[in-house]
Amino acid sequence: MRDFQARSLSPPDRPHDEENSIAEELRQQQQKAELFAEVTLKIRQSLQLKEILSTTVSEVQRILKADRVLIYQLWTDRTGKIISEAVLPDVQSILGYEFPDEVFPTDYQTLYAKGRVQAISDVSDPKSGVASCLIDFLTQFGIKAKLIVPIVITLNPHSGDQVKNNKLWGLLIAHHCRQAPHDWSEFELELMQQLADQIAIAISQGELLEHLEDMVTDRTAKLRHVNLELQQEIVERKQAEDALRCSEEQLRLITNALPVLIAYVDAKQNYQFNNQAYEKWLGKSPESIRGKHLNQVWDCYDRMEPWVSKVLSGEVVIYENEIQWIDGTSRSVSVTYIPHQEGKGKQQKIKGFFALITDISDRKAIERMKDEFISVVSHELRTPLTSIHSALKILATGRLGSLTRDGHQMLEIADENTDRLVRLVNGVLDLQRIEAGEVTMNRQVCNAADLMVTATEAIQAMAQQYDVFLSTAPIEVEIWADADYIVQVLMNLLSNAIKFSSREGRIELTLRCRANQLQFEVRDWGPGIPPEQLERIFDRFYQVDSSDSRKKGGTGLGLTICRKIIEQHGGRLWAESVLGEGSRFIFTIPPLNYGEL
Ligand code: ADP
Repeated sequence: MRDFQARSLSPPDRPHDEENSIAEELRQQQQKAELFAEVTLKIRQSLQLKEILSTTVSEVQRILKADRVLIYQLWTDRTGKIISEAVLPDVQSILGYEFPDEVFPTDYQTLYAKGRVQAISDVSDPKSGVASCLIDFLTQFGIKAKLIVPIVITLNPHSGDQVKNNKLWGLLIAHHCRQAPHDWSEFELELMQQLADQIAIAISQGELLEHLEDMVTDRTAKLRHVNLELQQEIVERKQAEDALRCSEEQLRLITNALPVLIAYVDAKQNYQFNNQAYEKWLGKSPESIRGKHLNQVWDCYDRMEPWVSKVLSGEVVIYENEIQWIDGTSRSVSVTYIPHQEGKGKQQKIKGFFALITDISDRKAIERMKDEFISVVSHELRTPLTSIHSALKILATGRLGSLTRDGHQMLEIADENTDRLVRLVNGVLDLQRIEAGEVTMNRQVCNAADLMVTATEAIQAMAQQYDVFLSTAPIEVEIWADADYIVQVLMNLLSNAIKFSSREGRIELTLRCRANQLQFEVRDWGPGIPPEQLERIFDRFYQVDSSDSRKKGGTGLGLTICRKIIEQHGGRLWAESVLGEGSRFIFTIPPLNYGEL
């Protein structure tokens, strides 16, 4: 680097002609500009603030040929410390020296923050304005002339308030210790000021960098945290997936091991899940069925369809069906459909249903054997029973000799029980014949009103015996039915209603047309039937109260037979009841279809 003589830049002592003077001025200007650029570049090339400061003081000291150049950093409590220094070897170093706050009054701070430069050519001159407390210090270190330039940093360069934004960071100071006075030249002032500005920029950038580094550190920590969380989430998700896969496998293992058909069908009636039994029973693998509509899987879809509609309306469905196995055999199955509901109240939606199909062929075969046995036994009982019954009737007439009072009583009991036994045997045989399809309904056009009147008249004696009032509202309407069997059903329902009514109770037999169906109804105000037994009373031998057979003389077969008869007519029989308020037994008969005539 070029050695630059500060003194040579002072204006010439001797007068020159004007042209030379301008040329000299320009040359000096250029030299100055080059020197500033050089020093600025050197400072900028330093990366650490400490290095920047030390480069600055060395360069200034070298150029100005000052005895000492230093940087004094000022802290917020107005105390401060000399943090960088370039000093000639024979001049005392004051690096690290700390000043108390009184050295630096607040108004000094304000003035410097506004950019005040202090150039003192002779500190001992009273006009120089050096504070008395400082004079001792200056003398102690042999300082004779000094130049002080503030290092001011701008806190928020985008805000308009310069005064508020300017912060006095420290001072750049040059000392002359050997010669005084020393008149500080324009050039010296300018150089110091420019370099103080460079230091300010470097500090601001350093702080900005520090801030950026803080931000980066902070952001990196956050990212690391998010990354850890993500990794944890991935681990947890994987664990959940493994657990799900494991439970799915278990579920499949269980459903595949069971000898029943298990499936899940969606609301569009497409299969979504099937167990392995589908392969064994129907020869269709679960994979081949998945996504298929019920009617693509079952030939008997027509029989299933009403039940499917029912479960998709939210009802649990249990019914029996016959299905064809892959080996060609026909199997009896019990089918249960359970709706899959989501949401509650008005938001409730049926998403599909679960289907469970159990093979009940063996049970059915045993039932058939049992029925056959009962029917054979009943058949064999009928002839001896009839003769016992007749013998008892003859004995009761007294034609074969008179009986004692006790003898009469015994005879009555024997007659009553034989009567029940005859009814039971007849009932069993009737039911067996109907179920075996041996009974053909002799359907003809008949008048509903006639049937109602016939049944009411036939049961009237019993009603009187039980002191029950029986009313009917016959309607003249033609139906297509076997009159005898319909009268049998009506009488059975009426006799039940009488048996279960209290004395002076009331019974009604009505007929009405609903939804294109004729509905017969027998209504009583008796004890009623518990809701969970409303279906079971149609099972053979089922009685709500097991003592009914003794008390009311029933067999538990009447409703079973009635239902079979009505079903043979293409109708439906069911019971409705409110406990303690009575019961309604309702059956439908399809309207007269002249097409069948
Ligand atoms: P039973 O010969 O015993 O009357 P049913 O098959 O006709 O046989 O009736 C079966 C059972 O249904 C009866 O034992 C009784 O418990 C109940 N039941 C039938 N009708 C009525 C009714 N009107 N009121 C109350 N319970 C009834």
